[in-house]
Amino acid sequence: MSPDPDCLFCKIVAGAVPATVVLETRRTLAFRDISPQAPTHVLVIPRDHHRDVAELADASPETLAELVDTARAVAADEGIDAYRLVFNTGAQAGQSVFHVHGHVLGGRAMTWPPG
Ligand code: AMP
Repeated sequence: MSPDPDCLFCKIVAGAVPATVVLETRRTLAFRDISPQAPTHVLVIPRDHHRDVAELADASPETLAELVDTARAVAADEGIDAYRLVFNTGAQAGQSVFHVHGHVLGGRAMTWPPG
């Protein structure tokens, strides 16, 4: 899928907006969240533009699998063996950037249910 010129995360993929990249794979990119909610808070995205995780699963399940593997590798690099991988899907669920991203959150105790 071609980049969306109005998409913040497409701009990060293109290098037009700076980010603290922690891991790159052929189809994914991982970078630190600008407003961290835990000691580790990294966003993992596909390089290609897809609106949300359901759209990515439909269009490219192999990229979704690679994204989950990148999240696992990020957690290992950060030295955390327990983490949350969160895909906010839709505005009411808290999605604010409509380029699918998994939040890798860890390094502190988590509560349930989330707010
Ligand atoms: P969501 O609300 O699930 O769509 O998550 C979007 C996330 O992107 C939020 O946690 C923001 O803090 C994060 N974010 C927004 N702009 C940037 C940026 N320029 N670099 C890194 N993270 C960002």
